[in-house]
Amino acid sequence: MQFIKSSLLVTALMVVTASCSFAELKVVATISDLACIAEAVGGNDIEVSLLCPGHRDPHFLPAKPSLAHKMSKADLLCYNGLELEIGWLPLLLNKARNPRIKPGSKGDMDCSTALKHVLDVPGGNIDRAMGDIHALGNPHYTLNPENAVLIAQEMAFRMGQLDSANKDAYQARADAFADEVATRLPGWIKLMENARTKSILIYHSHWNYFTEWQSLNVVGEIENRPGITPSPRHIHDIIEKGRHLENCVIMAAEWDHHEIANKVADRIDAPLAILPGYSGAQEGTDNYFDFIDRLCSSVAQAAAQE
Ligand SMILES: [Zn+2]
Repeated sequence: MQFIKSSLLVTALMVVTASCSFAELKVVATISDLACIAEAVGGNDIEVSLLCPGHRDPHFLPAKPSLAHKMSKADLLCYNGLELEIGWLPLLLNKARNPRIKPGSKGDMDCSTALKHVLDVPGGNIDRAMGDIHALGNPHYTLNPENAVLIAQEMAFRMGQLDSANKDAYQARADAFADEVATRLPGWIKLMENARTKSILIYHSHWNYFTEWQSLNVVGEIENRPGITPSPRHIHDIIEKGRHLENCVIMAAEWDHHEIANKVADRIDAPLAILPGYSGAQEGTDNYFDFIDRLCSSVAQAAAQE
């Protein structure tokens, strides 16, 4: 009897061990939008870790050892590229010492390669005095859901390469993601009807893919050089410009200098929309679709005040 019990125990342990050894694909995403898209495509077949939470400005993230630790176990690293993470990702890659995700390996995924076009690519020689960031063009492309669809498709392909047993499931989920965007698109476009009649001032060019997608009329930037706090002179000029504009709305992210954005809004008497910069930056925006919903509804709400 004792023998039977022991045998059963050994068999049970073998089953548990076998199920544990069937590991999910370990994916690390640098920003929350990419983590959301990876989760949508990977479903239960992957485990996603995030490096920069949605409420943090991904241009500036401390390269903590805990983040390198997450990367040390990854099979696939999904990053934004276009130098968004230039200040911290190379340092973390170095610390992580993971050959599976090193540059050029199968697990190295620069999501910007899925794009059809990049906005704001500087022409001629790049002068760092023009700003510390965006030297390869505007990196905030996930704010256009049509780009999110392209990324989802590329992720399905890359995940399928690393885990061929689930290739069809990845593709089916990427297609379902594209269907969901297509279903919601008319609502997002309709919601912004009134905002399209306004003059939009943005804080950082974080919003350029969103404003282009929604055909909004951007008339100026409070932060005239990306990544550099605007000078008092530029703030003065923006206020002067804004005073002559009718129906102006200001868009800023959670992490921007709110005192400067508030001062401009105050002086030109325009509504200020403080928006989630990426998924998860505000409560109720953990999902990519909820995030885009919030962006559209918050700008629409501000436009309705004007
Ligand atoms: Zn930026």
